[in-house]
Amino acid sequence: MDRLMVSVSGVRGTVGKTLTPRVAMEFGCAFGTMLGAGRTVTISRDTRPSGAMLRSAVAAGLTACGVNVVDLGVVTTPGAALMTRTLGCDGGVILTASHNPSPYNGIKFLQPSGPALPADQAERLKEIWRQGNFALQDSLHTGSESHNADTHETHVTAVCETVDPAAIAAGGFTAVLDSINGAGCAASPILLKRLGCKLVHLNAEPTGRFAHEPEPIEPNLGALGQAVLREKANVGFAQDPDADRLVLVDEQGRFIGEEYTLALAAAFVLRHRKGKLAVNLSTSRMIDDIAAAAGVEVVRAPTGEANVVEAMQREGCIFGGEGNGGVIDPRVVSVRDSLTGMAMILQYLAETGKPLSELVAAIPAYHLLKLKFPCPADAAAKVVEKTRAAFANRPGATFNNADGLRINLSDRWVSVRASNTEPIMRIFAEAPSRADAEALAGEVQALAQSVIGAG
Ligand code: MG
Repeated sequence: MDRLMVSVSGVRGTVGKTLTPRVAMEFGCAFGTMLGAGRTVTISRDTRPSGAMLRSAVAAGLTACGVNVVDLGVVTTPGAALMTRTLGCDGGVILTASHNPSPYNGIKFLQPSGPALPADQAERLKEIWRQGNFALQDSLHTGSESHNADTHETHVTAVCETVDPAAIAAGGFTAVLDSINGAGCAASPILLKRLGCKLVHLNAEPTGRFAHEPEPIEPNLGALGQAVLREKANVGFAQDPDADRLVLVDEQGRFIGEEYTLALAAAFVLRHRKGKLAVNLSTSRMIDDIAAAAGVEVVRAPTGEANVVEAMQREGCIFGGEGNGGVIDPRVVSVRDSLTGMAMILQYLAETGKPLSELVAAIPAYHLLKLKFPCPADAAAKVVEKTRAAFANRPGATFNNADGLRINLSDRWVSVRASNTEPIMRIFAEAPSRADAEALAGEVQALAQSVIGAG
C-alpha cells in the first residue's frame, strides 16, 4: 500500500504521490515549531534527484518558523550528523530514503549530537505536524539561510584521527568501492586516498540514478565481486545511498555478508581497547563470541539505530552498531558510518597482514535465518507469550523482552516480534548450522500459527 510512513526514523514516502512539497514544508514547520524561533539546524540531502525540491520545501517551513538553516549540500548521513554536532546546531534534517528504491525519498530529523530524534521527541514532532498549529513568524523574524561546504573534509579528518593512516598506506591496498551513485561518492575517495589506497570507484557519479537496486545485499553486488577479482583488489566495499551502511567483498570476490562488517570491526576495535559493545537484538551472535574472547560485555538494544545509540551512551560503550552493515564509533560520530567502517577494516588488514577471507574464517560462523508471516496486530502479544512459555524450561534459556521476545540458548538464539508498520511478525533464528536455525525458527512459527489459527 502506498502511504506516507511517519515513524521514529522519520518520514518516508513516494515522491510526487505521498511525499509532496506540501508534506515536506509542513514537517519543516513542525520541526521549527518544536525547536522554537532563533534556533539553528543543518539541512542536507543524499543524491536523489528529488532532494533539492524537498530540501527547499523543508527549509521554507523551518525558516517560516524563525529557525536558521545551514545548508550542507549533498553529504552522507554520518557527515550530516557530525556537522550538526560540530557546528553546535540545535538539530538537523536530512533528505534521504537510505537504501529504499528510487521512487522513495524521506525526511530524517537529528538531535544536536547527531543521532535521530529519540522516540518521545519523534512522537511530539508527529503530533505537532498532525495538529498543524505552526508557530509562523512575522516578516521581521523569519529564519536565515547559509551554506557550509566543510562536511567531507571534517568527516574524513575525524575518521583518520581514529586510525593510523601511515600504517594503512604501508599496506599498499587496492580497494574497489561501489557508491551506488549516492552520497558516498564525494567523501569516500578523499578518505581512501588519504589512507594511501589505490581506489577503483564504481557508480561514482552523485546523480542519484542507482545503477542497481540500492540495498547493499548479495543479489545487488555481483559487479562489485567481479571488479575485485579483475582488479586483484584486497577488498570490495559497498555503500547504501546515504553511506551509513557498509558491506564487504573479500579478495576472492566473495560477498561475505552484511553481518560480518560489524563483527570484523568489533574484532579490530577489541585488539586495541577493551570496553562494552552495544548492538541490536537481531544482530548475529558472532559479536558475542568476539566479545567473550576479549572478556567484554555486549549490550543488546531494541531494533533501531536510535536505540543502539541510547544504549551506547547509557552503558558507556566504546563501540556499537547493527548487523545490517552499520558501524558506530562514538569518537567520530554516534551514528552508523561507512567511512569509519572502511578505515577500520583497512587497518585490520594492515595490522594482521592477512587477507580478508582469512580474517572472516577466524570468526565462528553461524546461519542467520529471517522469515516473516502475516499476523493480526491483536495476536502478536499472544504469540510472544506462548513462545516464552514453550521455552521457559529449556536448559540455559535466557529471555530479553525489550523488543518482542529474544530467547538466547547456549550456542543459538531465536526472536519473534511484530512489525511496527505492517500486520506481520518476524522470526529470526541463528544457529551453528542451517538445519538447526530452520528447526528453531520452525518451532516458533508453529507456535505462532497455533495462536493465529485459534484466533
Ligand atoms: Mg542508510
